[in-house]
Amino acid sequence: ASGYSLLRDPHHNKGLAFTEKERDAHYLRGLLPPVVVNHDLQVKKMMHNIRQYQVPLQKYQAMMDLQERNERLFYKLLIENVEELLPIVYTPTVGEACQKYGSIFKNPQGLFISLKDKGKILEILKNWPQKKIQVIVVTDGERILGLGDLGCQGMGIPVGKLSLYTALGGVRPSACLPITIDVGTNNEKMLNDEFYIGLRQRRASGQEYAELMNEFMSAVKQNYGEKVLIQFEDFANHNAFDLLEKYRTTHLVFNDDIQGTASVVLAGLISALKLVGGSLADHKFLFLGAGEAGTGIAELIALEISKQTNIPLEESRKKVWLVDSKGLIVRSRLDSLQHFKKPWAHDHEPVNKLLDAIKTIRPTVLIGSSGAGQTFTKEVVETMSSLNKKPIILALSNPTSQSECTAEQAYTWSEGRAIFASGSPFDPVEYNGKVYVSGQANNAYIFPGFGLGLIISGAIRVHDDMLLAASEALAEQVTQEHFDNGLIYPPFTNIRKISAHIAAKVAAKAYELGLASRLPQPENLVAYAESCMYSPKYRSYR
Ligand code: NAP
Ligand code: MN
Repeated sequence: ASGYSLLRDPHHNKGLAFTEKERDAHYLRGLLPPVVVNHDLQVKKMMHNIRQYQVPLQKYQAMMDLQERNERLFYKLLIENVEELLPIVYTPTVGEACQKYGSIFKNPQGLFISLKDKGKILEILKNWPQKKIQVIVVTDGERILGLGDLGCQGMGIPVGKLSLYTALGGVRPSACLPITIDVGTNNEKMLNDEFYIGLRQRRASGQEYAELMNEFMSAVKQNYGEKVLIQFEDFANHNAFDLLEKYRTTHLVFNDDIQGTASVVLAGLISALKLVGGSLADHKFLFLGAGEAGTGIAELIALEISKQTNIPLEESRKKVWLVDSKGLIVRSRLDSLQHFKKPWAHDHEPVNKLLDAIKTIRPTVLIGSSGAGQTFTKEVVETMSSLNKKPIILALSNPTSQSECTAEQAYTWSEGRAIFASGSPFDPVEYNGKVYVSGQANNAYIFPGFGLGLIISGAIRVHDDMLLAASEALAEQVTQEHFDNGLIYPPFTNIRKISAHIAAKVAAKAYELGLASRLPQPENLVAYAESCMYSPKYRSYR
């Protein structure tokens, strides 16, 4: 290839880091200024540039441009500055990027499959340049973060998630494939936006939707085999539960909103117990929001309680209560409930408001998973604090604008007693002369390592016990020092090491369950996981 095209190939481009010898050997002379710099200096310069932007969306665009220009520099930057850049390539900024995707869209970074492509999905998959795919993240854009239906512009989410698979979990970028399935949108704003990039029609549903998804799932298996991981992301709950149920026995599928969230929250609860005492079974849990996240977490908590105590699942579920948009989920509502809510319809008189539910249920743990911001009001937090010495309060909804409360509100209203974590990050808070650092209860802790564990073991199915294994692995990474600061999650700085541990535990579980196809089982799974992880180091071209 010519030097000119080498500079325009993001997988191989090194920019000013091409050595003198490489410049001679690859026809690069004259195409670059004379200076030769190293990778570290390139990182320093890019970070300097990115920090000059005040607007997060501009930082996002600078990162996307870099990804398209020099992939290894992009990943080195992200890995070495993970705490600073995660809020840019992921929640909250990625949410804003999706909302404006129509106008900032430059180059496709993944595959778009629309209703118009019915009957041709296999051909479309073959248009993607990479053939060895290990992870697909797919969305239909109907419930992007807590922002609702963004249609085809949801593409920012699979792209962002997969860059975390690489940066945090060490999956090779060339093995990652972002996909958006466009079946229309019910978002009027999108439909009327002249820059909208998707199909300009209302969403297909029912059989039409199911057939397209079915063709997609078959095509993926046919083209990439049985061991490709398909992560469902940000589907609306009516489709999300059905898709997971339908394909979990035939494909390697994982729904991050249901299962990943459950695993990361359970990990946070396991470590929070070290601060508040008692076992899971001693606690009572109340959720605001009974969708994918809420019921997914609820089920994993109940499962873990059952494992720990030998109480049957139907019994352990009674320690968990959920509130949806119509109030507390109780027996009298059973007939009108969506199927995924039915297991949570316990005996109780109807209660409409969250605050009243808190007063009568008296939970020790309050979890926000509604996508509705500012719903943990002063009264809510104060009531939790009057019932508990150390109330555990998790405000999971993303992005920041949808958070149930801010870190500052949680600490102030609880007089510094809350054990608090949130889905999108908050800065440390000073209250009464003490600094409180809140943790980020975010899936990004789990899915990269979880996926790596599936890949290195050659797993062919996902099992709930693997989610429990991942939770335990994450909770084990929280040290005394973190607890002393009130943290229930480790900082993201060491995320690659954390991911390797999660991967090892997930892989070990896959072997134990007979679901692993990579034989023989490596002796030291942590070391093996680490050895499999992608490194953004430049290669030398001779
Ligand atoms: P979902 O399936 O649409 O569920 C939302 C639930 O919240 C539904 O049960 C809904 O009630 C309820 N709800 C909505 N507004 C409400 C209100 N004002 N009062 C009471 N209940 C209300 O969504 P999801 O997938 O669970 O996601 C929910 C949120 O969690 C999103 O913001 C998402 O970004 C966030 N999330 C965070 C993480 C993380 O890592 N931190 C992971 C996954 C999701 P009905 O059922 O009655 O409609
Ligand atoms: Mn999601």
